[in-house]
Amino acid sequence: MDFAITPKMQKLLADIQQILEKEIYPLEREVGENGYRATLPKLKAARQKVKDAGLWAPQIPKEYGGLGLTMMEHGMVSAVLGQSLLGHYVFNCQAPDAGNMEILIEHGTPEQKKTFLEPLLRGDIRSCFAMTEPEHAGSNPTWLSTQAKKDGKDYVINGHKWFASSADGATFAVVMAVTNPDGPPHERASQILVPVNTPGFKFIKNLSVMGHVGEDHHSHAELRFDNCRVPQSNLLGKEGAGFAIAQERLGAGRIHHCMRWLGICERAFHLMCKRAAERELAPGKVLGTRQIIQMWIAESRAQINAARLMVLEAAWKIQELGQREARVEISCIKFFVAGVLLDVLDHAIQTHGGMGLTTETPLAAFYAAERGARIYDGPDEVHKMVVARQALKKYGVQVAT
Ligand SMILES: Cc1cc2nc3c(=O)[nH]c(=O)nc-3n(C[C@H](O)[C@H](O)[C@H](O)COP(=O)(O)OP(=O)(O)OC[C@H]3O[C@@H](n4cnc5c(N)ncnc54)[C@H](O)[C@@H]3O)c2cc1C
Repeated sequence: MDFAITPKMQKLLADIQQILEKEIYPLEREVGENGYRATLPKLKAARQKVKDAGLWAPQIPKEYGGLGLTMMEHGMVSAVLGQSLLGHYVFNCQAPDAGNMEILIEHGTPEQKKTFLEPLLRGDIRSCFAMTEPEHAGSNPTWLSTQAKKDGKDYVINGHKWFASSADGATFAVVMAVTNPDGPPHERASQILVPVNTPGFKFIKNLSVMGHVGEDHHSHAELRFDNCRVPQSNLLGKEGAGFAIAQERLGAGRIHHCMRWLGICERAFHLMCKRAAERELAPGKVLGTRQIIQMWIAESRAQINAARLMVLEAAWKIQELGQREARVEISCIKFFVAGVLLDVLDHAIQTHGGMGLTTETPLAAFYAAERGARIYDGPDEVHKMVVARQALKKYGVQVAT
């Protein structure tokens, strides 16, 4: 394993850091105080600067107009961009669009690429991914009620979804719906591209998450599909391959989420140290002279370093041996890094006292946005079970799902 950062990558990361500090950090307070939608014109201007600098869509292959970075290289970029909740959006590598671009590149027909992928790549539109349903445990993605029935040349979709991140303002949804109810559990659902202006597509509301209703890209919606009719040519990949395609996007997606979380950790760590160095408890006595604060700083540093090495190892294993061989490492990082993220954020907030809960720093927004890290893309408990199952297999114990 060689985790050395090449001179080309060092230059790229430095250029991205510069844009982040100059163009993106100043917009954070504005989003916190005026909302995301009100800040869109300025975010759009920042996006144009990224395009002008030739840094647009780092994760996308060059033939599709991106930088063509490898998974490990994009992981490093993700760790820089993750320092701001706005970073990935400004570079057009934000979830869930990045995953949708990836599956459209891999499975889209030429027509689907023209209609859905090309405007996404240009940053002209956004998309969402609608799999989770309120009525079923999202931890078991093979258990869905949403059905897509064939009728003539169309699919007619009926169902109820929630937590469709960024559906507010999206142009289309990638919808997981059961097309083959009698098939084996992992081959029952398909992914179908549904423009949001299709009759029967109903945007119910943005959910209030951690007390924030959110808007536009920073939101999570409840949706209904009532006799929503789309042509069968909107099927992505093969019928019944919905689960397999969803799994594909999750491997690299988890590396990117974890690296993004490490970006948040670094920013929180920096703010914690800065506050410890500046805040006086009494004249001349700064917070950083207290052992308990020093302990938080030291432990956070060790946790972040350990987490980074684990993620790089998992990324290396995926690159060298494939996603299946790396499943234990992927599950380990998913719960471990999410835990580190919340620990570091909590200590950074505590170091700031009351200020840590306000929009004077990005810490409270990070916490509210990322408490879900232990839940989305598989809750901690499911990933721990995957790790334990593999470990115990060698000892003759079968861990059932
Ligand atoms: C911020 C955020 C963004 C999201 N974005 C999207 C999106 O864009 N599109 C989408 O389709 N979905 C999205 N989701 C939904 C997410 O995928 C689900 O919340 C997740 O899969 C868990 O499903 P659930 O909420 O139904 O919890 P449940 O499946 O009901 O699980 C509840 C709890 O039970 C425990 N648990 C579950 N399984 C086991 C087990 N096997 N053993 C022991 N304990 C267990 C866990 O603690 C878990 O938190 C998002 C969620 C969040 C929080």
